[in-house]
Amino acid sequence: MNKWTDIVKLIKKSDDIVILTHTNMDGDAIGSASALCHALRHMGKRSVILLEDDIPGYLRFMHDHDSKEGGLPFFVKEMPYEPHLAVAVDCGDAGRIEKRFDVFSSCADRICVDHHIQTEHFADYSVVEPDASATGILIYQLINELGVPIDKEIAEDLYVAIMTDTGCFRYSNTTAECHLVTAELYKAGIEFDKLGTLIYDTLPLSQIKLEAMIIVWMELFEGGKAVISYITQDKLKEIGATYDMTSSCIDVLRKIDTVEVCAFLKEHEDGSIKLSMRAKSYADVNRVARALGGGGHVRAAGATFNVPMEEAIRLTREKISEELSRC
Ligand code: AMP
Ligand code: MN
Ligand code: MN
Repeated sequence: MNKWTDIVKLIKKSDDIVILTHTNMDGDAIGSASALCHALRHMGKRSVILLEDDIPGYLRFMHDHDSKEGGLPFFVKEMPYEPHLAVAVDCGDAGRIEKRFDVFSSCADRICVDHHIQTEHFADYSVVEPDASATGILIYQLINELGVPIDKEIAEDLYVAIMTDTGCFRYSNTTAECHLVTAELYKAGIEFDKLGTLIYDTLPLSQIKLEAMIIVWMELFEGGKAVISYITQDKLKEIGATYDMTSSCIDVLRKIDTVEVCAFLKEHEDGSIKLSMRAKSYADVNRVARALGGGGHVRAAGATFNVPMEEAIRLTREKISEELSRC
């Protein structure tokens, strides 16, 4: 008996599986989902990843899997069959499955594999480890428990998951275990140099313009310990950038030497405003996010607003100042 025993049993007895991950997908979301989908298909299972938004541009190369294997695509926006087992990966609460929650809850069995700080478990069987650097680490363990060999494709998916969630092995969530797992992925022949270049060093010109814009609009506060910036849909259109390009902006703000907490607000196509926050070494941005109705991790968290941009900025600044006054 270990933490995976029940989950492995459930997967082994289920033939029709759906994998779900959080909206506004990042590398851990897509990499974990894709690695698991590969493994399940190696086991002869019918399995797809159900999405409701588009894969962001910098991760679109991961769509390649679709064309390599005949039959069902990996990523679908509508279920091509009725699933009996749902596996949510990298998803800290049911709200982040958004419109697909009906599909998730209609499954006879529901599993969650995740590393967010969860307030309440929304699946029947959960492995949730906030100390794991990425959900990709947990999926690596699960695939081993399932007895599926880690081939190059699975290893590359897991590498993308771990590399992106640890900011290329630089964030404070990077652990010895994550290096040890990564060493195993190297043994499977991953092209780590190709993946690093694709994800970190290949930007469209409009994204460079976007990064310049957010520097123009940023405001430092709390004596330079905090910085906030934002982007609107109108401005994105003006510079020819798309919403998915905004994911790199928070890392630009994080570079400022005096900054402990950075916050970036982006207006979504539907008018909602998504907040991303990072803390460098001592502040708890999960607490800030929770106060704003969101969540995440201690040093990386987010929330969603349905108020005008000025109000979202004001609220975020207020809660960050409260957090920094505690530190
Ligand atoms: P991001 O800034 O989008 O990379 O998100 C940072 C962390 O916060 C990730 O672990 C997200 O899963 C989490 N997060 C982002 N937005 C939300 C939200 N609206 N509710 C709960 N958690 C969130
Ligand atoms: Mn994620
Ligand atoms: Mn993650």
